[in-house]
Amino acid sequence: MTACGLQQNVTESGIEFSRGKKSGEETTSDRVAIDEKEANSLVKMGDATITIHAGLDSKEFGKVLAHEMGHGAYRLNNKAKAFFYPADPNKKGHDKGNPDGEAATNAGLQYNSNYKAAKRSLEEEKKKTKPKQ
Ligand SMILES: [Zn+2]
Repeated sequence: MTACGLQQNVTESGIEFSRGKKSGEETTSDRVAIDEKEANSLVKMGDATITIHAGLDSKEFGKVLAHEMGHGAYRLNNKAKAFFYPADPNKKGHDKGNPDGEAATNAGLQYNSNYKAAKRSLEEEKKKTKPKQ
């Protein structure tokens, strides 16, 4: 990711973003406060690749995919915050309190819950359609 001229300041009231003030075609060293939407627009992301072990069974494959999509959704919707989050690259978004990892974990948990509900629903449907003896 790159973020041309974007800066983040953490204050008592929260996170503030700023960029260089424009003067014609030039960007000056003066700073202009911007909202998160504009800050997000300044962060350019490269393509992302998700690699999932082909040996996983379908349930685990789906769970890992949901987890990784949780990371992707968070980063796409919070580009500026994700760009500046003081993360340890070895933890891949799972530093304590990092909302990126929390979004991924929650997506995995949601998948598990949906999977169980779908399985229960299928079993109930099977019982209903089972011929009576
Ligand atoms: Zn993760």
